[in-house]
Amino acid sequence: MNERFDGSFTQQEAIPDDAINAAVEVMRSGRLHRYNVVDGEAGDVAHLEQEFATLLGAKYCLAVASGGYALATALRALGVGSGHKVLTNTFTLAPVPGSIAAVGAEPLFVGVTEDLVIDLEDLAKKVDQSDVLMLSHMRGHICDMDALMRICDQNNVRVIEDCAHTMGAKWRDIWSGRYGTVGCYSTQTYKHINSGEGGFLITDDAQVMARAIVLSGSYMLYDRHLAGPDTSEFKKIRYETPNISGRMDHLRASILRPQLRRLNAQCEAWNVRYRTVENGLQDTPGLRLILRPPEEKYVGSSIQVLLLDWRPQAVRDVMARCAERGVELKWFGSEEPVGFTSRYDSWTYATSSIMPKSDRILAGLLDMRIPLTFSIEDCALIARIIREEVGAVYQSIPELV
Ligand SMILES: *Cc1c(COP(=O)(O)O)cnc(C)c1O
Repeated sequence: MNERFDGSFTQQEAIPDDAINAAVEVMRSGRLHRYNVVDGEAGDVAHLEQEFATLLGAKYCLAVASGGYALATALRALGVGSGHKVLTNTFTLAPVPGSIAAVGAEPLFVGVTEDLVIDLEDLAKKVDQSDVLMLSHMRGHICDMDALMRICDQNNVRVIEDCAHTMGAKWRDIWSGRYGTVGCYSTQTYKHINSGEGGFLITDDAQVMARAIVLSGSYMLYDRHLAGPDTSEFKKIRYETPNISGRMDHLRASILRPQLRRLNAQCEAWNVRYRTVENGLQDTPGLRLILRPPEEKYVGSSIQVLLLDWRPQAVRDVMARCAERGVELKWFGSEEPVGFTSRYDSWTYATSSIMPKSDRILAGLLDMRIPLTFSIEDCALIARIIREEVGAVYQSIPELV
C-alpha cells in the first residue's frame, strides 16, 4: 500500500487565544475605526504600526487594508501614475502587476533565474526604461540585494519591495523591506501573520509616508499616527493628495499585535518544516532543488522545485500522481492560470514580449505551500511521496530530459 497524506494545504493555524481576547475587547468597545479612540488612547492600529516599525528599524509605518493596497499606495506616493512604466518580476502573483495597473501604469517584466530570483542581467538591460522597480520577493526567494541596489542606485531607480512572502526574512543582516525606498507586506490569511486581509507599508522617507497616510484616508487626523512623520510634513501634501480609503481597523490590528510578537518563533517553525521537505527531496533524479545562498535568511512557508526541461505531460503526470496521494502541487507552467498560480503572459492588460529563458524556468516550476498545521512527520511523508512519484515518472520516460 502506498502511503497517503491526509492534511489540508490551505489550513492555517487558529488565531491564538490572546489575540481572540483582544479582538473581543475591541468589539465590546464598539470603536473599530482606527480614528475612533477616547482621550488618552492611541488605538490598536497606531500601536501595531509603531511595533512593526520598531521590529524592522523603520522610521515610519502605515497599516492598510491589504498587501495589494500597500503596493498601489507605494506607487502613488512615489508619484507613479498614468503612462509610467514600472519594472517588475515576471515570476510573481497577480496583485503585483495588478497594483501597477491600478495606478494606470504599465508593468515592464524582468526575467527569472534558475534560483527563482529576478534576473539581474535582464534588469541591467531594461533599467533605463523606468525609474521605479517593484521587486517581488516571490515565494520568499531573495536576490543578491547588494547587487540589485547597486544597479538601481546607479540608474536613479527607486525600489518598492513586495515582501508578501518575506516578512521576517533578511538578506545578510538587513530585513527584507529595508533595502528599497518602501517595503510592502500582506497580513492576508496565507501570509506570515493572519488578519484575513491587511497589509503594511514602511519607509524612512517622510514625504512618501505623509502622502501614503493621506492617501489611505486619514482626513486631517494624521497627527494620530504614532509611526508617522512630523505634522509639518503634511502642510502642503494634505491639500493635493487624494483620499483613496484603505485603512486598517482596530479589530484586525488587535489580532495582529500578539501574532507579531511570535513572528520569529513562527519563522523558525516554518524553516524546520522547509528543511525536512528539502532534505527528503535531496538527490531525487530529474528534480532540482532551489539554491539558497548563505546570505539569504529565508522563511520557508512554501517550497519550490524544478523539473527543468521535462515535457509538460510528464509534469502533469507527476502532479496527478502526487494529488492521488493527497499532495497538492501547483504548476507555473500551466497555459491556463489555476488557483493562485499565474503567469506573466496571462495578464493580458499588460503587454509582454516572449521571454524564453523565464518560460523555461516557469515550465518546470512546481510550488507547494507548507502551512504550520503540518507536523515535521507530515513534511517527511510529503517529501517521500513527491520523491517516489517524480522517480516513477522519470524512469518511465527516460528520453524526457
Ligand atoms: C499575497 C500577495 C500580495 C498581496 O496580497 P493581498 O492579498 O492584497 O494582501 C502581493 N504580492 C504577492 C507575491 C502575494 O503573494
